[in-house]
Amino acid sequence: MLTTKRVRPAALAFVAGCLLAACSQDNSSNTPTTVTEVDLVLTNGKVLTVDDSFSIHDTVVVDDGLIVATGDSALAAQYRADETVDLGGKLLMPGFNDSHTHIRGRPLRYIELGGVSSIAEIQELIRDKVELIGEGEWITGYGWSEDELDEGRRPLRADLDAAAPNNPIILTRAGGHSAVVNSLALQLADVTLDTPQPDGGVIERGDDGELNGIIRERQGIVGSLVPDSTYDEIIASLEINLNALLELGITSITDASKTPADYEMFEELYANADLPLPRSALQFQWHDPEAILALNQRVGEGNEFLKPGPIKVFADGGFTGPAAFTLVPYLGQGEYRGYLNMGEGELVTLLNEIHDAGFQMGIHAIGDAAIVLVVNTLADTLERNPREDHRHYLNHFSMRPPDLTMELMSDHEIHITQQPNFTYTLEGRYSAYLDGWRLQHNNPLRSPMDHGITVAISSDILPIGPMVGIYAAVTRKGMTGTVYGPDEAITMEEAIRAYTLTGAYLNFDEEEKGSLEPGKFADMILLSDDLLTIDPERIMDVQVEKTWIGGELVYESSAI
Ligand SMILES: [Zn+2]
Repeated sequence: MLTTKRVRPAALAFVAGCLLAACSQDNSSNTPTTVTEVDLVLTNGKVLTVDDSFSIHDTVVVDDGLIVATGDSALAAQYRADETVDLGGKLLMPGFNDSHTHIRGRPLRYIELGGVSSIAEIQELIRDKVELIGEGEWITGYGWSEDELDEGRRPLRADLDAAAPNNPIILTRAGGHSAVVNSLALQLADVTLDTPQPDGGVIERGDDGELNGIIRERQGIVGSLVPDSTYDEIIASLEINLNALLELGITSITDASKTPADYEMFEELYANADLPLPRSALQFQWHDPEAILALNQRVGEGNEFLKPGPIKVFADGGFTGPAAFTLVPYLGQGEYRGYLNMGEGELVTLLNEIHDAGFQMGIHAIGDAAIVLVVNTLADTLERNPREDHRHYLNHFSMRPPDLTMELMSDHEIHITQQPNFTYTLEGRYSAYLDGWRLQHNNPLRSPMDHGITVAISSDILPIGPMVGIYAAVTRKGMTGTVYGPDEAITMEEAIRAYTLTGAYLNFDEEEKGSLEPGKFADMILLSDDLLTIDPERIMDVQVEKTWIGGELVYESSAI
């Protein structure tokens, strides 16, 4: 059902319009050199088409949102464009397709703390938030990590009190296993020195014997007091957060954990948005099969901006904890090998059930044992109930499984979307829990590609900017500069293809986007530097200068 190709009215309109234009001009001029009217010509660039042979041209012609032609500068003379853009010799390529990400609308009270580098900065963000929402209101936030704070320690109750004594505050640490709250929040939750320690959690005390504001694992005793957010504030924030992807050059996403209710919010947003937005596909978890089945009746109905994506299944956990399910025990953790997210039998049944219902699946599998189990199950399932072009894929594939497993994947066309940026950002966790060969081969790219497996690159928002993944894919470097398994590196051309066309392929959209070829959406980005010739150490400095979606300029850097 998911393989049904959508009819694209814009494409049909283009074909008709083009024929008409050519006809009328041929009739009137009667010369071999016809000039066709189009919306947009971009010329004098280094245009990476990402076609089969990775052709590089210097001109792109766009009409009615679609690429009409690419070629050398002589091509420009064949068209009369409403607008001509001189690319100044810079690199133009297809927009990034982040095939595994998470974009949420957040309440007004929320502060994003991922990437914050000091407690002083957290205090500044809190003060700004009080300005915005006023005293007395709850303030929430997520994503701080003491590893990234200049002060080298966790933010504590006194730090939050100093910034906003009159607003209850709860800020959750990255990973979600603890939070820091301020005095007013403790007071509202009736948490005092006399409060007994909660089951499975800790209300911490500092060296002075007082509550220091940190609550581990049971932060719900305070968090449950935070009022629900409103639909309006969430959808407004979702619009801003999706729009913000355009400045990173991301023109298409697959959001990896959404519900059918979220889909309705996205539909409303896309129907009414004031800001330009990237194209989205949403993955649904199988918690509510009836709602998903109801949506499935609409698969193929989605439009060029929003469509249902594959079904999401969680096989195991990740490297927080750690909880990924591994073949060999973790380093220094006794016999501990992580665990499956559900019983093995239940997982096997679930994968069979979803496949039999006709869905495509994108399955979260991080540990090598989880990867082996999922691949073996899918291989059996596909032999029992073959389906042409199913395009099932594994999300993450963070540990390299045995070669036999990769051979099975290749034989059964089981694909991957993987995050090489994890090699960079999660370096500390990998080296804490893995060693030797399996540490070196974290987030493998070369080996699955050499096995003939189709591999896309995506971010999983760690961080969200594509340049980190590109950098790590070609250098195999972690944050400290340590190189892990250089034999898993891929070329820049491969990385660009994996972050554009392959992502489109995983959503059955490769005929419509992902490369700059005639008939495809003109989703393009102009970069500050040439990724093909740049010193790899400078890749993360590369900026997106312009972004077009369907031929419309939707982002332009203020720096140019
Ligand atoms: Zn994810």
